[in-house]
Amino acid sequence: MATYTTERVTGVRHWSPKLFSFCTTRSASLRFENGQFLMIGLDIAGRRVVRAYSIASPNYADELEFYSIIVPRGPLTSRLCRAEPGDQILVSTKPTGTLVLRDLRPGRRLFLLATGTGVAPFAALIRDPETYERFERIVLVRGGRTHEDLGYGDELLRRLHADPYLGAPARRQLHDYAALTREPFARVGRITALMSAGRVCQELGLAPLDPREDRVMVCGNVHMLADARALLEARGFTVSPGIGCPGDYVFERAFVDAVEPRPATPARASGA
Ligand SMILES: Cc1cc2nc3c(=O)[nH]c(=O)nc-3n(C[C@H](O)[C@H](O)[C@H](O)COP(=O)(O)OP(=O)(O)OC[C@H]3O[C@@H](n4cnc5c(N)ncnc54)[C@H](O)[C@@H]3O)c2cc1C
Repeated sequence: MATYTTERVTGVRHWSPKLFSFCTTRSASLRFENGQFLMIGLDIAGRRVVRAYSIASPNYADELEFYSIIVPRGPLTSRLCRAEPGDQILVSTKPTGTLVLRDLRPGRRLFLLATGTGVAPFAALIRDPETYERFERIVLVRGGRTHEDLGYGDELLRRLHADPYLGAPARRQLHDYAALTREPFARVGRITALMSAGRVCQELGLAPLDPREDRVMVCGNVHMLADARALLEARGFTVSPGIGCPGDYVFERAFVDAVEPRPATPARASGA
């Protein structure tokens, strides 16, 4: 059974009526790899409600950061969204997950494909110095429905570019490609469709996807994962066969959806 430490909320920021991020204290004994997730939760009316959450903060940070959806009648998030500094929150002691650098073969470019809150694990990875050491170029491809969905990522990138240590490599090596599906924007469409049409590389002035030198991490809903996986497999990318076994790409579900059917090949390492 998972064990938990009790942490305290240190800050909360609401990005839209359905998205917020928050920081908590971090147990000195918690160790994790950037890209991993853990379980967080609350005791509500005598019942422990816990859910999987990607750790958005890098593993060298003193605090933990999370980026969350608000599901209107969601058992956890309908309560969590009212959290205030000082409130207690349960954090599991055993991080896990597939979106880790060591499970990718060496390569020159790293593509990070995210929809919605799927950007959270990449918030940690683009703040990891090792990402810039291992890859010449990092391409963050993020999709949302409306402008509000991009606010957290926009602010993250603004702060990263201004960072005294990581700002220079980020400005030099990190590309940002954001697209929306439901509002007019510079780039409109599903990120998987834009990738498939070759538009992402073309518009960023990059060579097309190539399994010999590109590595990919994917985090989104089941449909996005299925589309991304089909596009990568068709181009000759092979998936990491499991945690600890490197491949050309890795993927993780950004959430579990009870009503949607599973993709043809089930996602690995879903902790919820
Ligand atoms: C590996 C993993 C990592 C995750 N990381 C995050 C994270 O960093 N941030 C986050 O907000 N959630 C994340 N989730 C989802 C999270 O575990 C919860 O499902 C979510 O916080 C809602 O909890 P809830 O109890 O309020 O509602 P739940 O009963 O858990 O969910 C109700 C329904 O809401 C929808 N839903 C749930 N989560 C999301 C989401 N993130 N985006 C869109 N729709 C959703 C689904 O249709 C789901 O069936 C992750 C899930 C997994 C499996």
